[in-house]
Amino acid sequence: MLKKTFFCCIIFLVFFPHFISAQSLITQQAIRDRIAFLASDQMKGRFPGTPESWVCAKFIRTNFKTAGLEPLGKHYFQYFQPTVKLDTEKNNTFQFEGFNGTLIRDYIPLSFSKRKTSLINKVIFCGYGLQFNFDSLSFDDYKGVNVTGKWVMILRGVPGGFGKDPTLRASATDYAKARIALRNGAAGILFVSNKGLADKKTESSPNYDDLQRLRPRKTVSLDVPVIQIKRTVADLLLQPQNKTIQQLDSLNEEQPFELIPTVNAVVDIQPRKVKTANVVGVIQGTDPELKDEYIVLGAHYDHLGMGGFFTGSLQPDTVAIHNGADDNASGSAAIMTVAAQLAKDHQLLKRSVIIVAFSTEEEGLLGSEYFIEHPPVPIEKIKVMINLDMVGHLDQQKELYIGGCGTFAQGIPLLDSLKKESALKVYVIAGGVGGSDHVSFYRKNIPVLGMHTGGHPEYHTPKDDLETLNIPGEEKVCDFVYEAIKKIANIPGKIEFIKQGDSD
Ligand SMILES: [Zn+2]
Repeated sequence: MLKKTFFCCIIFLVFFPHFISAQSLITQQAIRDRIAFLASDQMKGRFPGTPESWVCAKFIRTNFKTAGLEPLGKHYFQYFQPTVKLDTEKNNTFQFEGFNGTLIRDYIPLSFSKRKTSLINKVIFCGYGLQFNFDSLSFDDYKGVNVTGKWVMILRGVPGGFGKDPTLRASATDYAKARIALRNGAAGILFVSNKGLADKKTESSPNYDDLQRLRPRKTVSLDVPVIQIKRTVADLLLQPQNKTIQQLDSLNEEQPFELIPTVNAVVDIQPRKVKTANVVGVIQGTDPELKDEYIVLGAHYDHLGMGGFFTGSLQPDTVAIHNGADDNASGSAAIMTVAAQLAKDHQLLKRSVIIVAFSTEEEGLLGSEYFIEHPPVPIEKIKVMINLDMVGHLDQQKELYIGGCGTFAQGIPLLDSLKKESALKVYVIAGGVGGSDHVSFYRKNIPVLGMHTGGHPEYHTPKDDLETLNIPGEEKVCDFVYEAIKKIANIPGKIEFIKQGDSD
């Protein structure tokens, strides 16, 4: 009787092999439930430091604990206090005769401006604000003019005809130009986008002549006010002399000259620091030697909160909950779900796997940067970092993009072989390292894989909701990630970094 039952079981499993994997913890239900929690309206868009964001961090911690992940050190939380915003609500002004500017509409202080300062003085137009003498190229936009104590007005970007010159591009950043202005004695700087930059529509600046997003940067603040004004405002400043910024933009040889109006501006930038945490857990590998090496699987769990101007929202005039279901509740749910299965199968892993949910990605990869500056294991023991950011929009073609596959020798062959076994259409991209937290690891010469299922119209809008996601698709992505980690954790021998050309 017993024998017969056993035999029946074997027959059953031969004909219904998927029944074995029915035990898998990677299920649509598990993924959906986790996204539903993180991307619910109650979480108010998971802005770092908010009570709701802490609820999310604790939710992730509970998931890690339940799955059997261990903390690295005393806690699952890696606390840090980043500056998440530069607030400009108070006291900022930009005025000249007959004009009183509106913050954000007409002007914005730049992130490296002196935080609290003011200046009333004349303005000198200094072209592209360049001043250098290289072997093949020389510029002096300050020739024959004394800017000491005054404002300078400078075009952003590079002059026409030099767009591709790499030396010039490197010396023509706003920050580099501001330092040149200071060297010449300027007491304040007004930047105006050149036509090329004003025309350029990107994810973060979808409209003509957008002002830059004021976000915390690592660059040291300068000792003077630095303000970007719109081209329309520059035209008003130039009007008494019958000039326009368009004319000046197209004349590369224009000499510096003084404008007629006196500009009176006040800059008041308030840095906003918050307390937040990355959530970190580890699954120990089993190989006596390789278990001291680590594969990191990460995803950011923060999002844009209520949106608004300069938060990264692409509907900045709509203040509403940005649920960030795809960006990146999808990735957070994926790492929790894959982690549960990996922890269950830990005996199959030679190397150890660190699972980390990052905070403050949207403010400029701050959580992953903190993690890699304060790694919980020796940094040289981190062999590969796999990042999931937006994995919930698998489309009809089932496209999964993987950047960074060339950052270690085994990457491309390994992913190519997984791709053959997968139901997904996988794009194995050698370089293409950009856009999310894996960049912080790549900058430290660690091999990375950045995975996503592509952009969509809901991206960074209040419409990025659970209902728009493809949960069966994300289940397939999770299966793929699980298989990839199992393979990478078991690569025999050394995993070494290979630099790629096109990082950002
Ligand atoms: Zn994201």
